[in-house]
Amino acid sequence: MTMTLRTPSRDDLADFSAWRTLALSRMPYMASLLFSVRVLDAPGLGTFAVDEGHRLYIDFEQARPWGAVACGELLLHEVGHLFGEHASFARDFGVEPSERKIWNAAADASINDDLVQAGCEYIASTRIMPDQIGAPNYETAKYYLDVLRDLRDQNQSQSQSGQGQPNQDDSDQDDSGQSQSDQGGSGGRDTDGSNADGDADSDGPFTGCGSGSGGQAAPCELPEGEDFGGQAPAASAAEHRRVIVSTAAQIVEHASKGRGTVPAGLVDQARGLLEPSVTPWQRVLGSLVRRSVRFRAGQDRPDAMRRDRRRHNIVLGQSGAKVIYPGRRSPKVRVAVVRDTSGSMSAGDLDCVTSEVVAISKRLRIRGRDLTILDVDADVHTARGFAGAGSMQEVVGRGGTDMRVGIERALTLPGGVDVIVVLTDGGTPWPVEPVRVPVIAALVGEWAEQTAEVVPDWMPHLVIEDPSK
Ligand SMILES: [Zn+2]
Repeated sequence: MTMTLRTPSRDDLADFSAWRTLALSRMPYMASLLFSVRVLDAPGLGTFAVDEGHRLYIDFEQARPWGAVACGELLLHEVGHLFGEHASFARDFGVEPSERKIWNAAADASINDDLVQAGCEYIASTRIMPDQIGAPNYETAKYYLDVLRDLRDQNQSQSQSGQGQPNQDDSDQDDSGQSQSDQGGSGGRDTDGSNADGDADSDGPFTGCGSGSGGQAAPCELPEGEDFGGQAPAASAAEHRRVIVSTAAQIVEHASKGRGTVPAGLVDQARGLLEPSVTPWQRVLGSLVRRSVRFRAGQDRPDAMRRDRRRHNIVLGQSGAKVIYPGRRSPKVRVAVVRDTSGSMSAGDLDCVTSEVVAISKRLRIRGRDLTILDVDADVHTARGFAGAGSMQEVVGRGGTDMRVGIERALTLPGGVDVIVVLTDGGTPWPVEPVRVPVIAALVGEWAEQTAEVVPDWMPHLVIEDPSK
């Protein structure tokens, strides 16, 4: 099926501009993305869709009556797919063509919880949210994909025994604009996954967010090499990268200045883009916990992880911070991170610490009580469960330095601890004798190579390189 595309009319562009203004009022840091899209009118599409080349297809006639609030929030939703790089993740995760609809729904859920946090009430009341699939908020698209796969498998076995369930969202008519008629659930809200059988050519309106979401391509999408008479050339990979990196920088800046609420999930994503950790924490900590390998972790930096580090990191990140796949994962470890918050730690050092903690959380799939962060200068100020990079924005301390008190406190955490990671610039006294659990010194900052020299022999250490250098 093909559809005619049109150059947006003057009225269309005026509306688009109003919608974008609304979107910017919700999420000002999304400006680069919102200004990067090439808008095309897609009569008959019935919805909004986006492709990987930042072409945004809008059925203006259909969308206009929904109003500026709805359309502004939908713009944020669509560019959320670009920021989340959901199309390339779908490839990385091996999402099958038959799973494109549930992937689209999973990606939608991962965007919408953040949008709701940013005040998008239209999205909250009309689009797929994690609780509709019985999942917690603020997980990754990959997490929701696994939930939806499970639901699909349950449904398939149920319908084989004659107990198929109706789509819980079919009553939700004017929700969207994702659906012109009332037949069938939309891709985005096909929450039970039961229609995810690869029916790309089935009848009914297009439902979904387009190939830019990793879902099914909208019927109106331009081939990558076509530019609609020069009006809508696909964004190159380099342009895409510039736009999302600048968006990530804006997100981090807004978050650090405490301007309004920046959804913590976006802060996590942004930090992952800007400050990718290359430390193989799973291996480093796994080795320590098993006590089977004695090593100087500073020598343990395979170049293979560097070459493709952003992709690796994001893939790991997107696979979910606290996802436990039954039967497929090793038992959890409890990690205590002693974060040096003394005055000698620069803002850059603290950012580096945050990205390492994010990496520990993602690689080991732990957070909350299994990953306790202690803010320590010469005293222990706080001990909190890790709840995403956003939860580390507040830094308590900034006095002198004695990481020993943090190690002592970590040993007394309720529930115990299996391994202690001290993230510090290294200007600290260390315990002379080993303590009863493994401790690793992870050294950040300009002088890390030098301070590594004074780490006691019983304590393995790593030097964390600043990825920006
Ligand atoms: Zn979507």
